[in-house]
Amino acid sequence: MKPFEYISTKSINEATQVLSEYKQDARVLAGGTDVLIELRRPHAKIPKAILDISYIESLNGISESDGLIILKPLSTHTQILKSDLVRKYAQLLGIAASQIGAPQIRNRGTVGGNVMNAATCADTVPPLIALDAEITLRSNGGSRTMKLVDFFIKPYKTKAESDDVLIEITFPKLPSNAQSAFIKLGRRNALSISRLSVAAILMQDKKGLISEARIVPGAALPTWMRVKEAEEMLIGEKPSLKLFTAAGQKVSEVMISYTGRRWSTEYKEPVIGVLVRRALEGCVKD
Ligand SMILES: Cc1cc2nc3c(=O)[nH]c(=O)nc-3n(C[C@H](O)[C@H](O)[C@H](O)COP(=O)(O)OP(=O)(O)OC[C@H]3O[C@@H](n4cnc5c(N)ncnc54)[C@H](O)[C@@H]3O)c2cc1C
Repeated sequence: MKPFEYISTKSINEATQVLSEYKQDARVLAGGTDVLIELRRPHAKIPKAILDISYIESLNGISESDGLIILKPLSTHTQILKSDLVRKYAQLLGIAASQIGAPQIRNRGTVGGNVMNAATCADTVPPLIALDAEITLRSNGGSRTMKLVDFFIKPYKTKAESDDVLIEITFPKLPSNAQSAFIKLGRRNALSISRLSVAAILMQDKKGLISEARIVPGAALPTWMRVKEAEEMLIGEKPSLKLFTAAGQKVSEVMISYTGRRWSTEYKEPVIGVLVRRALEGCVKD
């Protein structure tokens, strides 16, 4: 690996200053589980400087305020899966975090790194979009907040500028009538990258009818989004195998309408439908 300058900082202001100076020539490092692997690739573009933000304490932690969960970007997947707040108000995110890599990766890898890397298989992204998360980016020029669903352009490409630091992720707490699920399918059971995944949230009214539905597939569409066509089929209905199967088929149809038919469609077409059905079933279990 070519040499680079290593800069470590304990303050957000200093971090944004360094980034405004180096621009494309600097790379932020959080847990390093994506960056370091990338830098070791044979023809990797090595930046002039690596900016280590992992010691900035104000960028770490999970808290609640005014009905919102505030997830700081340096929160590791282990912190997320162990968080009582996540367990109570965002169960699907905890499930996703628990299925990332292996314990070593979960101990180092951060939610901020997972979002900013924007890999198609990023496991925290579908749950965060289902939770209607917003992110706040900070640069020397100030802060801006946007819906996470609007942040991604395509795999590995986001609307972040080279001098942006992700400083916060927020989302509303799920109400007590909400149930959620996250399912991922990889090539093996452990240490597995998602080939497909589904995040789902269902809310039922007092009569047991579905009052709100959110379905976000992962690694299925050109970028992440809720599949409204399938969600709408569920509203006002009683949960049933037939209904959830139909919703799964709809997600499959929508996926193909975006991606067209390609070599992987034969596999993905039935499988995404089954994953959606299973995720929805997971949302109505006691
Ligand atoms: C063996 C292995 C298994 C894995 N398994 C999974 C898996 O199952 N599921 C999954 O989703 N991922 C998996 N990953 C990928 C990786 O662990 C995650 O994406 C992790 O969350 C990345 O976080 P990090 O803190 O290590 O990011 P880093 O590597 O430090 O950074 C990733 C990217 O985000 C940028 N960045 C990080 N934080 C910020 C910030 N606050 N502001 C601005 N930019 C920032 C960096 O510049 C870089 O571009 C795996 C990786 C490995 C090596």
